Formats: sequence, C-alpha cells, structure tokens
Amino acid sequence: MTDCIFCRIIEGRLPARKLYEDGEVVAFWDARPASPIHILIVPRLHIPTLNDVPEGDHIVDHLFRVAKKIAQEVGVAQSGYRFFINVNRGGGQVVFHLHAHLVAGNDFGTLFIKAGVAVAVLWRKLVGLVRPQGHPRLDPICANLMESN
Ligand code: AMP
Ligand code: ZN
Repeated sequence: MTDCIFCRIIEGRLPARKLYEDGEVVAFWDARPASPIHILIVPRLHIPTLNDVPEGDHIVDHLFRVAKKIAQEVGVAQSGYRFFINVNRGGGQVVFHLHAHLVAGNDFGTLFIKAGVAVAVLWRKLVGLVRPQGHPRLDPICANLMESN
C-alpha cells in the first residue's frame, strides 16, 4: 500500500523510532504519544483493521507476545501498562493499518481522573471548614437557654 503511513515506515520510506522488529511485526514509538511510554506494534502485512484478520490467523497472538517482550524491555511489565487495538472510526482508529498500542505511565485520561478526585477531596475539606461548628463552652449555655424558654 503506497499511501499507507505504516507501510511506508515498515519499508523504511518514512522515519520512525523503531525499537523492535522481526519477520512479522515492527514496533516503533508513537509520534504523538498520549503517555511517556506509547509504542505501536504493527504487522508487516497491510491488514486494514482487526476485522480483516482471517479466522485462525496468529498475528494478533504475535502482537500480544511482542507487547509482553517490549513491556519487559522498557521496564513496565510489573508496574503495568495498557494494550489495546482501536477498530474503525467509532473505535478511535485513525491509521487503517492494523496496529496495537502499548501505553504506560501517566496518560492524560488517568491524570484527568486523578485531578478530579483531588478537587473533590479539597472541596469536601473546604466545605467542612466553613460549615458552622459547635462551640464547647457556648453549646451547654445555649442548651440551657433553650430549655428555660
Ligand atoms: P489509531 O488511532 O489507533 O489509528 O492510532 C494511530 C496512532 O498512530 C496514533 O497514536 C498516532 O499518533 C500514531 N501515528 C500517526 N502517524 C505516525 C507516524 N508517522 N509515526 C509514529 N506514529 C504515528
Ligand atoms: Zn499499510
């Protein structure tokens, strides 16, 4: 496929920061990473989407194996990572040459959720501070006054 970005990278006609290759797949760093670690694992064969992988084909299995190996090499196998394949436009696929993402570190989605939780915790603390508190010395006096009325 001459107009496919990933075919061009695989054929060496477009530069990419490759970090692994074998007879079936090539892996390189994502050009617009969503996280400190964002690697794409791409079959050499031009297969547009996951839906086009023939039944019984071992390529997806191979993508998994290579992802595990790379995760070990970049040191995120134990700390954790995400491995996913976007399928078609509704699934977020932009490049129509099958590829798997290996993502690790603080991606923006996770940071956003963490920031939201931090704001919620802070808000609860602030509300607690401004909420009228009881007064240890005045409370019994007030209670007596209320009773005497
Ligand atoms: P997807 O949305 O699953 O199709 O993912 C496509 C990914 O390819 C995106 O994360 C892009 O940042 C990445 N990408 C696009 N062009 C290049 C390129 N020339 N080199 C490396 N990564 C690329
Ligand atoms: Zn291609």
